[in-house]
Amino acid sequence: MNTPRPYEETDVIIVGGGPVGLTLAHVLGARGIRCVLLEPRQTPDINSPRCKQLNPRSMEIFRTLGIAEDIRRHSGLPFGWSDRAVFATSLTGHLIERLDQVFALSDVPNSDLVEPAQWCGQDRVEEAFRASLQRRDSVTALWGWTLRDIEQDAHGVTVTATASDGSEKRIRGRYLAGADGSRSTVRRRLGIEMTGSGHKAQFVQAIFRAPGLSAAHSLGRAVQYWIVNERVSGMMGTLDTEDTWWAGFPGAPGDGSPERFRDAVATLIGTDYPVTILATDTWSPRMLVADHYRAGRCFLLGDAAHLNPPWGGFGANLGIGDAADLGWKLAAAVSGWAGPDLLDCYEAERRPMAHRAIAEAVRNMQVLSGDLVQPGLEDDGPAGDRTRATAAVKIRRSKTAEMYTLGFVLGARYCDSPLVRYDDGPAPGSTTSHYQPSTAPGGRLPHLWLGPGRSLFDELGQGFTLVELGSTAGPEWETAAQERGMPLTRLHLHRPDLAEIMGADFLLVRPDHHVAWRGSGHDLDVAELLDEVRGCARSSTSAGMPVTSVSPQAAPA
Ligand SMILES: Cc1cc2nc3c(=O)[nH]c(=O)nc-3n(C[C@H](O)[C@H](O)[C@H](O)COP(=O)(O)OP(=O)(O)OC[C@H]3O[C@@H](n4cnc5c(N)ncnc54)[C@H](O)[C@@H]3O)c2cc1C
Repeated sequence: MNTPRPYEETDVIIVGGGPVGLTLAHVLGARGIRCVLLEPRQTPDINSPRCKQLNPRSMEIFRTLGIAEDIRRHSGLPFGWSDRAVFATSLTGHLIERLDQVFALSDVPNSDLVEPAQWCGQDRVEEAFRASLQRRDSVTALWGWTLRDIEQDAHGVTVTATASDGSEKRIRGRYLAGADGSRSTVRRRLGIEMTGSGHKAQFVQAIFRAPGLSAAHSLGRAVQYWIVNERVSGMMGTLDTEDTWWAGFPGAPGDGSPERFRDAVATLIGTDYPVTILATDTWSPRMLVADHYRAGRCFLLGDAAHLNPPWGGFGANLGIGDAADLGWKLAAAVSGWAGPDLLDCYEAERRPMAHRAIAEAVRNMQVLSGDLVQPGLEDDGPAGDRTRATAAVKIRRSKTAEMYTLGFVLGARYCDSPLVRYDDGPAPGSTTSHYQPSTAPGGRLPHLWLGPGRSLFDELGQGFTLVELGSTAGPEWETAAQERGMPLTRLHLHRPDLAEIMGADFLLVRPDHHVAWRGSGHDLDVAELLDEVRGCARSSTSAGMPVTSVSPQAAPA
């Protein structure tokens, strides 16, 4: 008879069910890895939908997990609702400038994108994730449970968690992922510090209801209204088509009472429009990165690992990228095909991404609504028009990089990873706003359509994928992958023309869509390459996992 263990067992314990922990649960669940997710909140917090912009990289990650449509369906604003940012003296005041096709939200087709961005309040993102988790048999979500303590040894991690009724559980996992936000208990228990700086300024986000407000102004639809006036400068926008709005402005105005918040919102609107404040949330910009992302068998990701100012909308998107990276590595470790260095490479790849996002966000923060104020901006007539035209020039100069970030979002590249075999081929030329597709190893696989609605990314496997553009690779790939237990999908595109465009006959693509290697395959030691990309320089001959082979008919891109 088995003696019952004093704890539940799983492979990965995920602490925190915000957007990042939930993404990780999907990444692991899609690969059948057992995990238990702990989240204190029974339901998403509708009063604090901080994140609104999901960028195209996050959306393509969601697509490959089969949940992009769930998110679009749950969004309060349907896809294509608006791709515009408007600058005005108040919601009912003078227009200063309009910027279109911002944040890659446009429904105008762009062949570089697998999925366009989506505007969706954080609570609705979490709702979509929670609902779709029911399709993941290997994931157990414990809503209402809070992590209290962590102990780890050479073989695993044991946590103590409590429920709101005071009951206690012990759970044992092989690994633990701390996605428990900026005040991370996991980070504190591991003794990991954050390094960087904070900003003294305080900002408020107010959520309010304003029936009929969308029809009561003449600025037209926009995802962001930047309000520029001398009294209260800030930003605002709708969260849904049912009169729920958000507004963000500097400082807790006055004594912070509901009347003061209502006054601030009234100034942004420009009239005493009747509004009901539902909630307020105060925050300060912080530029902090954890000194380490790993301690033993425990890992940090999302806001638990890094914090950046919100201008540009990078925070949750960055954490979703962490989850895509850590997820496949944990899956490889649990499934037995990870090399000894694979898990360490999570930090090596993702910490530089946090510094990159902070640098971009800090630049965006240099010019906020209040910095665009100038005398005469609210004047009627030609003099006011001239002042607004001058302000519009400043807006274009200072805000273009914040609104058009495709190069930053899709051009992210791991430049110094032990898991990537670099070459001397052309270096990618993306800038913040301009995305230059490139197969340079370390970067994201460039996208192309294989047929109507059929993306190259749809054909990638959950493990590595060998994309055969022109030539056909030899059987040594299957043999080497099987010997290592590495899941490898072979994708024959039969497109020599693409080999020329992509600059290689073969691309080895990682489970997170980054290119691990490109080349012609001549004189290649395949076994050595596979060892390198799985974090292991040594050969192994463990029993194999199936190698799948697919051969879609590629249509012109
Ligand atoms: C005003 C503002 C606007 C923003 N807009 C955007 C945007 O448009 N796009 C974008 O990408 N980012 C944006 N961000 C940043 C974004 O909100 C965060 O980066 C994101 O919420 C981080 O997600 P997370 O899952 O790491 O952490 P969180 O969202 O903080 O989630 C952490 C979770 O862990 C849980 N938790 C905490 N302690 C424990 C414990 N002991 N045990 C178990 N669970 C625990 C919490 O309940 C919570 O659910 C914005 C931020 C601000 C301030």
